[in-house]
Amino acid sequence: MADTKSKKISAIADASGQVARSSRIVNTSAVVERLQVGVLVCNVTDANVVESLFVNQFARDVFGLKDSTQLPCPLDSIWNASDNHVLAGQILEVFRTGRDTTFEWSIRSGVIERFLSSHLMALTDHEGAVYQVICTIEDQTAEKLAERNLLHHAFHDALTGQPNRVLFRNKLEEAVSDCQREGHQNGCAVLIINIDRFQQINESFGHSAGDRFLISMASTLRRCIRSSDTLARLSGDEFAILVSRFKDVEEVEMISRRVHEAMQQPYDLDGNEVFTSVSVGVATTLSSSTHPEDLIRDADFAMHRAKGAGKARTEIYHRDSHQRARSQFHLETELRRAVERNELDLYYQPIIDLSTSELHGFEGLTRWTHKDRGFVSPVEFIPLAEETGVIVPLGRWAVKAACAQVRKWIDEVGAEKTVPINVNVSGIQFARDDIARMVEDGLREFDIDGRFIRIELTESAIMANPTRISESLQRIRKLGVKVALDDFGTGYSSLNYLHQFPIDVIKIDRSFINQLEPGNAPYKILRMIGMLAKNLGHEVVAEGLEDIDHIKMLCDLEFGYGQGFYFSKPVKGAEASEYVYGNLPWDK
Ligand code: C2E
Ligand code: CA
Ligand code: CA
Repeated sequence: MADTKSKKISAIADASGQVARSSRIVNTSAVVERLQVGVLVCNVTDANVVESLFVNQFARDVFGLKDSTQLPCPLDSIWNASDNHVLAGQILEVFRTGRDTTFEWSIRSGVIERFLSSHLMALTDHEGAVYQVICTIEDQTAEKLAERNLLHHAFHDALTGQPNRVLFRNKLEEAVSDCQREGHQNGCAVLIINIDRFQQINESFGHSAGDRFLISMASTLRRCIRSSDTLARLSGDEFAILVSRFKDVEEVEMISRRVHEAMQQPYDLDGNEVFTSVSVGVATTLSSSTHPEDLIRDADFAMHRAKGAGKARTEIYHRDSHQRARSQFHLETELRRAVERNELDLYYQPIIDLSTSELHGFEGLTRWTHKDRGFVSPVEFIPLAEETGVIVPLGRWAVKAACAQVRKWIDEVGAEKTVPINVNVSGIQFARDDIARMVEDGLREFDIDGRFIRIELTESAIMANPTRISESLQRIRKLGVKVALDDFGTGYSSLNYLHQFPIDVIKIDRSFINQLEPGNAPYKILRMIGMLAKNLGHEVVAEGLEDIDHIKMLCDLEFGYGQGFYFSKPVKGAEASEYVYGNLPWDK
């Protein structure tokens, strides 16, 4: 009964088209008309044309359909875009199969694109044949744009708007696999571009100026590449270019040349002309590897080489010639870590008073035991440390280790029986660090007298910068610290300098001692050096004494002190302590 009544009411409402002003009556067409979802009802003519029977206001807005358009009308006359093929195709499919479906599509009007989601429902008669299809249309443009925006942020650098490391990595992967598919006619290349002295710009002009500088740097770099290449910002002051397809490496070199040329122009930062340069590292699939990660790593390595070679240049990675260098690079990182983690050891080789065979002092020699490589000789790691600047923390560590050892001996046997330790200091250290200050700090920290620490440096170190080093040596000697001239006889060996430099000890190099025969030229030279040293009031130490004949000759020459395997190899602190306690392994 209730059923028939409601049917009647809706029939009245439908027929009149009037809004029924009763709280009990629902005017469904008014509701459908106002829905914030598009509703389209279609059928398909015998000629297989999709025809719209009903289009609500929301759908009319989406399609830009005029109110005056007479319905029914063919779907493709509703709006003249090619997008309606998608919708028409889906409607025809539902007519054919009778299966409901949901799909996403978009329509474009001018530059504006609307992203839509539609659900199609088949209306079937009692025999199951489809006679109409209802299509709902939801506008998802806002969500889609937000999603796109989010996606953009995930793959782009917020400051410059360029692709970030993640996107760069993806594009590189694609480019490498394209190259491989196409055979070996084409290669791809990665250029890592690091701004030289960006820190200075940041510090001098402030961070917001630094940001502006990076933005303009990005647009400068964009102008240097082809439209098919990718520019990315990898981190703070580092950009990367992906050259996705090149036939000749000359094309890559051209891009790097353009980059350096572009740097010749000054940047205007708040009215200041700022000149900058970049260091560029290049790795190509032809010279490095075909793995994206390897390409980035090798280009980065080449960039560091470019920096090391004086900045403002390009270095191209070559697998063969760089392999050794890369293992050095690895070693450098590990050496740095070894110093930081205190994994080095100071060994001590005794220096003996040749006239009494008493212990006179020790030379501290650094030892590094690498977890995989085992013992790494200082002959290998000291030059590496000098090259890379690790010598500064390493040198500081050695002075501290020596001071700590002296403190231990003073506490154990008293200052009277404690002997000095010589610490090796390289010329590079003098250039990069305040050695006098470093020694002073060590003495103060362990509360020891200057006479317990001596420093050794080579003649070539002095010659590299005589004025600066002389000044520094004078300050060192004021602390009561004696200075030894190491490896005498291997460098300039100009006796002229002996009296000019503020030194106290001369150490004669092992190679000199090796050649020693009674009465031969080295023997005569040594006699002269011995006399000169005595006149100047210098101690003389002969290094590399390996057998008794050496000792005899040096005693004849009235040399004061000696050091070498004949007495003892460099030993660990505990063993050196035994010597200090008076337990000497050599005959007196
Ligand atoms: P150096 O200062 O000339 O040190 C003497 C080197 O000769 C040491 O080699 C020592 O083990 C070796 N030696 C001593 N007696 C004999 C001997 O009778 N026969 C032979 N064949 N060799 C002997 P080591 O320890 O390998 O050190 C090599 C060089 O590494 C040192 O030469 C020094 O220039 C440098 N070095 C070592 N430790 C340090 C350090 O802490 N700082 C700096 N700057 N350089 C260091
Ligand atoms: Ca030495
Ligand atoms: Ca030496």
